[in-house]
Amino acid sequence: MPSDPSAADLAKRYRVDDGASFRLADFDPDDTWKLEKEGSKDLLAASIARLSELQERLYAQDQWSVLCVFQAMDAAGKDGAIKHVMSGINPQGCQVYSFKAPSAEELDHDYLWRCVKCLPERGRIGIFNRSYYEETLVVRVHPEFLRKQHLPPSLVTDSIWEHRFQDIRSFERHLARNGTVVLKFFLHVSRKEQRKRFLERLEDPEKNWKFELGDVRERGFWDEYQRAYEDMIRNTSAKHAPWFVVPADNKWFTRLVVADAIISALDSLELEYPTVDPAQREELAKAHEALLAEKGK
Ligand code: ATP
Ligand code: MG
Repeated sequence: MPSDPSAADLAKRYRVDDGASFRLADFDPDDTWKLEKEGSKDLLAASIARLSELQERLYAQDQWSVLCVFQAMDAAGKDGAIKHVMSGINPQGCQVYSFKAPSAEELDHDYLWRCVKCLPERGRIGIFNRSYYEETLVVRVHPEFLRKQHLPPSLVTDSIWEHRFQDIRSFERHLARNGTVVLKFFLHVSRKEQRKRFLERLEDPEKNWKFELGDVRERGFWDEYQRAYEDMIRNTSAKHAPWFVVPADNKWFTRLVVADAIISALDSLELEYPTVDPAQREELAKAHEALLAEKGK
């Protein structure tokens, strides 16, 4: 059951299963559906409790794994969404990896290599804070990154982005066919809201540490990034690996949508605790008896 009937299938509104006609302009970063900030804390708390329960079953069943990929412009709220949505989860069942600019060792391999090493084990939820999708975003916006990848020049053609989309699609289909549920979140923040958040980071001494000059430089490439995001979502949305274009101008709403998307995906797996067969039940009864007999010894 969803935590609140009025919020049932909230994430469905932002889910893209087929990118053929996707347009970023059709999605409003400031959308909050018909919910209000007031009361959102209780809704999120209920979702977190539900998520925690589902994650226990995922872990106990030990068959499926869940990969949540987060991509966004700076200050869109990736870190906060991950922190809040996962706050009720047993840390043993959840793994978070942040992908920064690749190291020399990583550049000596294909771009999926570092991510494959971090895929979640069965029974776990894995979070990618940035991912192989940077290969179609920052690397596309700044071709100098591509030049550092030691690729044989004959492979760097005008088709490289289309090839990357094809390979990512195949990779995610492979994951899905092997029991990894792939959920991808694009936190869609507006240019105006990003400016406001950067200004807060500059003006509030407690937030100064979050400010990075490089982020303002990247803001200068806003339109290039939006085009790259749109193209990425168009080319890599699939029923088995959907993108969620999550409105990100209101952090409380972003978190509700992300939580609901993960809950819906886990719900659809119909997870059950492993059952005990008669022989095992007999063993358990014996252990129970033995422990009871210890009393007073
Ligand atoms: P925060 O700033 O909230 O700590 P972040 O995800 O922005 O989180 P940073 O260390 O600031 O972390 O940035 C990571 C940087 O690494 C980003 O600018 C991103 O574009 C870059 N990056 C990630 N993957 C690649 C890649 N494959 N090639 C080049 N740059 C990459
Ligand atoms: Mg950053």
